[in-house]
Amino acid sequence: MSINIELLKRLPKVELHCHLDGSMRIETILDLAQKDKVKLPSSKFEELRKALIIGDNRVTLEEYIDRFDITLSVMQTPESLKRIAFELIEDVLKRMLDT
Ligand SMILES: [Zn+2]
Repeated sequence: MSINIELLKRLPKVELHCHLDGSMRIETILDLAQKDKVKLPSSKFEELRKALIIGDNRVTLEEYIDRFDITLSVMQTPESLKRIAFELIEDVLKRMLDT
């Protein structure tokens, strides 16, 4: 059997490493910021999304890590952490069921 890109794409995958503070829904960040009176770079969904998502852009490690200040700012209560963890598991399940 030869190993090629098509085979690699077809093989089942597992999540080896996932950061809670890097896996939040934008809607949730906006909602928690409003609830906990946290100031964000923007309170508009698309602007906040652009501020958080790196995509194909190349950034320095510092620029990458800076984004966690935003997500960590709304992760400061037990209730927020519970919601964020619950939603991450929901999102993982949805991805598993979609594939
Ligand atoms: Zn890590």
